[in-house]
Amino acid sequence: MQKYGLENIRNIVLLSHGGAGKTSLSESILFTAGAISRLGKVDDGSSTSDYDPDEIKRKISINLSLLPCQWRDIKINLIDTPGYSDFVGEVKAGMRVSEGAIIVICAASSVEVGTEQVWGYCKEAKLPRLIFINKMDRENADFFRTVEGVQAKFGPKCLPIQIPIGAHTSFQGVVDLLTMKGYTGTPPKEAEIPSSIKSQADTFREKLVEAPILAGSALQNTGANWLMDAVCDYLPSPKEQKVAIDGGAIEPSEEAPLGALVFKTSADPYVGKLTYFRVYNGFIDSNSQVWNVNKGAVERIGQLFVLRGKTQEPVPQVRAGDIGAVAKLNVTVTGDTLGRQDKPTKIASIIFPEPIFSEAVHPKTKVDVDKIGTALSRLVEEDHTLRVHRELDTNETIISGMGDTHLYVTAEKIQRKFGVNVELAIPRVPYKETITTKADAEYKHRKQSGGHGQYGHVLIKMEPLPRGSDNEFTEKVVGGSVPRNYIPAVEKGVKEAYPEGVLAGFPVVSVKTTLYDGSFHPVDSSEICFKIAGAQAFKKGLAEGRPILLEPIMNLKVTVPSDLTGDIIGDLNTKRARVIGMNPEGDKNIIEAQAPLAEVQRYAIDLKSMTQGRATYTMKLDHYEEVPAQITQKIAAERQAQKQAEKA
Ligand code: GDP
Repeated sequence: MQKYGLENIRNIVLLSHGGAGKTSLSESILFTAGAISRLGKVDDGSSTSDYDPDEIKRKISINLSLLPCQWRDIKINLIDTPGYSDFVGEVKAGMRVSEGAIIVICAASSVEVGTEQVWGYCKEAKLPRLIFINKMDRENADFFRTVEGVQAKFGPKCLPIQIPIGAHTSFQGVVDLLTMKGYTGTPPKEAEIPSSIKSQADTFREKLVEAPILAGSALQNTGANWLMDAVCDYLPSPKEQKVAIDGGAIEPSEEAPLGALVFKTSADPYVGKLTYFRVYNGFIDSNSQVWNVNKGAVERIGQLFVLRGKTQEPVPQVRAGDIGAVAKLNVTVTGDTLGRQDKPTKIASIIFPEPIFSEAVHPKTKVDVDKIGTALSRLVEEDHTLRVHRELDTNETIISGMGDTHLYVTAEKIQRKFGVNVELAIPRVPYKETITTKADAEYKHRKQSGGHGQYGHVLIKMEPLPRGSDNEFTEKVVGGSVPRNYIPAVEKGVKEAYPEGVLAGFPVVSVKTTLYDGSFHPVDSSEICFKIAGAQAFKKGLAEGRPILLEPIMNLKVTVPSDLTGDIIGDLNTKRARVIGMNPEGDKNIIEAQAPLAEVQRYAIDLKSMTQGRATYTMKLDHYEEVPAQITQKIAAERQAQKQAEKA
């Protein structure tokens, strides 16, 4: 096995708006570098990067994939990422372990929403980048217009290091502005610079500085060689980048104790769990033991692999600067550091965005009910932008992620990988009920039938507690009107009535119940009689206490391009939202608002269609608030109908 020093490695993430040609470009790079012998195509599902059935079916990347190759004496670990914003988790993971980025832009579409987004991420992460203007062979391909677009959006420092010779059907090659030589053909051969673009080339050469732009066509396999040269010459190696650790940074070194960051875990019921890691310091050996610094536990390492798409090449060792994978780890999850027990250092983890979109998952059959738990917990392990929880109030399992496509793909995975059939539905809103005034209630449970009868009698006071508090139960019984041994039964009855209020059958919250009086019968009274009395008295008290419905209110933070601010606020106003703040940030506005969950469950979809994906948002539960009266009636009626349907 060839050993690459820190300075002989480049970890490079490919980023773009979806469809600009990252996957095709990585195929062209691998082919040009001789890492693959056949040029695969996205369109017939034969690319090295998109091998997952979901990816082939949708013709989009869903997972990041690793595509190593060698160029000159340098190992380039290309990381292809999804261009679709729903899969931003993979993008963030890929960026975290790279020292540089290639941003791919389509020469016909110029800068798109996704281009701006990934540019923003790179700026935030201070990731050095190259821009590759792809699809030069396409109709309407316009290199210079695209460069203007790039400069207008990202600044005048972005300058071409090449300019193309021709475009669309006449696209033949490029002029290298560094050497001022022309190249045409595949593989490229030195050629005369056409006189028509000579003066243009001279002008661009004079301006040449730091963020270089290149041109090519992934489909025609033109440009990959210069791009790799540029990666080797202009993007930093692992040696030039300090290693971010918890509370600081350290120098990268092959001699230092092991420090490797786990940046992806993929679950597969057949292959098992595959863990992807990037070594920052030291090295890791096959069939060894390492220390999981986050878990404080030993992890056994089996055979190590270097991945290329889906192919796994066994290797004895993975060294500082490089990326590897290993199967079947025990305690390790994404974000953990593998290191040494005697010198544990935690490498700074990956910051994943919080989920913003939820669906209820309904298993289709009884068998599916039994299997769904395992499937979901494995998928959550694999995908850190996915969360699962059980909403006790509505009795639904909720999955949350980055958008509708993300969750549909997840549902398909549940089906394909784990054989569990599920349906996704809009989650029920977890409404709650409470009272607004004090109430007094009495209930006498009395039955005389044949032998000995039933008797339990209680008087309770109920009062509203502050919003957000739990229910409380106390007793102030004097003189044994309710015998001591029956008081726990009353309490049990009251508590068993909490889950179903009288307005629309939602759980009751923030009510204080005090048992203060009652009566008993020496023969007919029993625990069950007092339990029934407690529950019934509580229900009567609820009805007396002017009950209301409470709904979850979410905090929304929407980041929108300034020109769309008016539209977004107008739309929020139709959603019963309250705008509470607005702060400009560059050419964007950050709108802070509060809105009822019932109105914003589909906000990811609404916002995408209103802004063509140019806005982003976060959403978090803040508190519960009273539902307006006319809406309460509607909800109560719907709930009634739903209960009827469930009974039928
Ligand atoms: P990704 O989503 O960024 O990975 O883009 P893909 O590589 O999947 O490409 C999206 C579409 O653009 C596919 O249909 C490709 O065949 C096509 N494509 C990619 N590169 C080129 C190119 O250089 N020229 C032309 N004409 N089409 C391309």
